This record gives sequence, structure tokens and C-alpha cells, in this order.
Amino acid sequence: MVPLRRPRCLATPAGIQLPTAPEYINAMSLFAIILFVGTMLISLWAAARVKSVYRRYSQVPASSRATGAEVARAILQRAGISDVEILPHDELLGDHYDPTNKRLVLSTHNFHGNSVAAYGVAAHECGHAIQHQQAYGPLHWRMAAVGATNFASQIVMWLPMIGMFTGILSWNTASWIMAAAWGVIMLFNLITLPVEFDASARAKRVLAEMGFIGTDEEMTGVRKVLDAAGWTYVAALITSLGYLLYHLLPLLTGGRRSE
Ligand SMILES: [Zn+2]
Repeated sequence: MVPLRRPRCLATPAGIQLPTAPEYINAMSLFAIILFVGTMLISLWAAARVKSVYRRYSQVPASSRATGAEVARAILQRAGISDVEILPHDELLGDHYDPTNKRLVLSTHNFHGNSVAAYGVAAHECGHAIQHQQAYGPLHWRMAAVGATNFASQIVMWLPMIGMFTGILSWNTASWIMAAAWGVIMLFNLITLPVEFDASARAKRVLAEMGFIGTDEEMTGVRKVLDAAGWTYVAALITSLGYLLYHLLPLLTGGRRSE
């Protein structure tokens, strides 16, 4: 057996072949480690940042006394939207606009609060409702891609395990399926960016125009909260692009990963 640790003397004893570096770590598994650790760090950083920025600005009251729900109602009214329900929800940062049921869901803190963060989030979700009303292209592409993306997410979760334990798929077939599934997820994350950045841009504009945000400090808070949220979508795109390349590049270059 070849000893795993290099002998102390530099001379290689006869008959023993020392393993070379590539045998220990080939390029693709090194790429896999960097990809796994790197994308996890980016995602953790983005999630931690959104939480800390939100926590900070949810303590800063806006000069207007209106609650987040009232701000949302006023913004929707101004846009001529009367069929969207505004509801409170317990989940922290679980705020979203549900286009299927026309519901604008705000976490209780944002629904009842009048913080700079609550205004930013409420106006951002209104931005999605307005996109929906105006048939904003990327929002509709994103809605159309939800089913395929959920299916692709199941594939990337289960296929490696099924492949590993059953061996029914060849490396080539499994890699093409994984690349296709990550491709779908990557495209979904790509069209999410204009949807999210557009909703945030609308939010900043409308809060200033309607006078809910008066001072520069308040606007800085709104901008920081929305920008921090935007980074989580960028992190998701980087992650899916990384995994897509990881599966696709060996197929395109003909370089099979050693298992
Ligand atoms: Zn959004």
C-alpha cells in the first residue's frame, strides 16, 4: 500500500510510486469544493446582511405616522388597484406578493409598523402588484417558469443520490440532466433580477413622490434595506450559474470527472 504521507527523505524508495497531486485532487473536485464553499458563503453573507440591515432600519421610525399596511393601501390606490388584499403574516421577512390570489402579504412588524424598513418592504411588494397590473414581461415569464423550476429543484436534490445508490444512469446522462435542471434554475434566477430590481426602483420612487419618505436619512434606510434584499437574488443567480457550469463544462470539453 502506498503511504498517504510523504516519506521524510526526498528520495523515492524503489518500488514505491508516490501519488502525484492530481491523483489526490483533480481539477473538477477542487472546483466542486470551491463552488460548494464559495456559493454557500455568498448566500450566507447575503442572508445575514439582509437580516442585519432590516433589523437596524426596523428600529428607525419614518416621520410619517402611517403603518406599512396603510402605505401599501395608498400606493395601490394611487395605481388604481382595488382588488389586492393586504394581509399580515407571522413569518419574519416572509413578505411577498401572491399574483395568483392577488394578495399582498406583509410580516406583522411591517404591517403594523411605521419604520423605514416597513415602508421599503411594503412599497416593494406594491411594486410587484403594479408589475402584475401592467403585465410587466419579466414578472409573467417568472410566473410561467415556477412549475418547471420547482421540478428542476427536485431533480438537482434527488438525482445525485439516486444515481449514487442505484447506478442506473451513466455519468453522461446524469450530467446532461443535472446541467439542464441547473440551467432552468439559473434562467429563473436570471429573470428574477429585473423583477426584483424594478419593484425596488418603483418603491423608492413612489415613497418619495407620495411624501411617505421625507428626509435623506430615511431614503438611505429604504435604499439599504432594498439593496440588501437584492443581493440575496444575485447570490442565488451566482450559485445556480456555478452549478450549471460545473455539470456542463466537462460535457462540452469532453473531460470526464473521475469519480
Ligand atoms: Zn420582491
